[in-house]
Amino acid sequence: SIRFDAVSKAYGAVRVIDDLSLDIAKGEFVSLLGPSGSGKTTLLMILAGFEAPTAGSVWLDGRRIDRLPPYKRDMGVVFQNYALFPHMSIAENIAFPLQMRGVGKAEREERVTRALDMVQLSAQRDRHPAQLSGGQQQRVALARALVFEPAVVLMDEPLGALDKQLREQMQLDIRALHKRLDLTVVFVTHDQGEALTMSDRIAVFNRGKIEQIGSPRDIYDRPATRFVAEFIGETN
Ligand code: ATP
Repeated sequence: SIRFDAVSKAYGAVRVIDDLSLDIAKGEFVSLLGPSGSGKTTLLMILAGFEAPTAGSVWLDGRRIDRLPPYKRDMGVVFQNYALFPHMSIAENIAFPLQMRGVGKAEREERVTRALDMVQLSAQRDRHPAQLSGGQQQRVALARALVFEPAVVLMDEPLGALDKQLREQMQLDIRALHKRLDLTVVFVTHDQGEALTMSDRIAVFNRGKIEQIGSPRDIYDRPATRFVAEFIGETN
C-alpha cells in the first residue's frame, strides 16, 4: 500500500501540493483527476522519486521511500509522450532500463520477451518506434514500465495522444493488465469519463488538494462540493 502523509511541495512561494494525505491499497486502481495545474503530475513525480516533497513523507508497504532514488522504489512509470528512443528497436527500448541496471544478457532476453508478451507486441520486437502506430508505441512504453515486474505502475496521461477508438481499447487493455498482474495503478488524467470508467477510486484535485475521494459512483452521484459537481459535469 502507498501512503502520502501531509505532503507539500512548493516552488518558491507557490504551494503546488498543499498538505495532502492519501492512502492507496495494494492492487487498487486510483485516478488523480483534475484540471490542468491542480498538482496531479507533481504528486505522481513525488511518488516516482523525480521530485522531492518540501514537507511530509511518502510510504510504500510501511517503508519510507521519499528519500530513495527512483530506481529503488519498485515502480514503473509511463509518461504521456512515451519517451521511446527512436534509434533503438522495440526490444532494445524495453531492455534499456535492464541494461542500465547491469542485468545480464540472458535475463534481459527473458524479461523483454515476457514484457512484450504482456502487451501483445511479440511480433514487433525488431521494429523501430516510427514503424509502429501510436497505440503500439504506447504499449512499448507500458512494456518498458513493466519490465522489472513492479508492484506499482504510475501513468501520467498515457492515452492523451491517442484517438478516441484507440483510447477506449487501451483503457480496456490497461484495466485487464491491472487485474491480471494484481498491479497497484496510480493514473493521472484530466478526462472525467476515463477516470469514471477505469478507476476503483478517484481523487479529484483542486489547487494542490484533494477535493473529494471516492468510488466513481460516489463521485458521480454524490459530488461533495460544487467544484466536483461542475468538474464532473463538464464534457471534454
Ligand atoms: P497538467 O494536467 O496540466 O499536467 P497538473 O494537475 O498535472 O496539470 P502539475 O503539472 O502538477 O499540474 O503542476 C501544478 C503547478 O505547479 C502548475 O501551476 C505548474 O505551473 C507548477 N509547476 C510544476 N513544475 C514546476 C517547476 N519545476 N517550477 C515551478 N512551477 C512548477
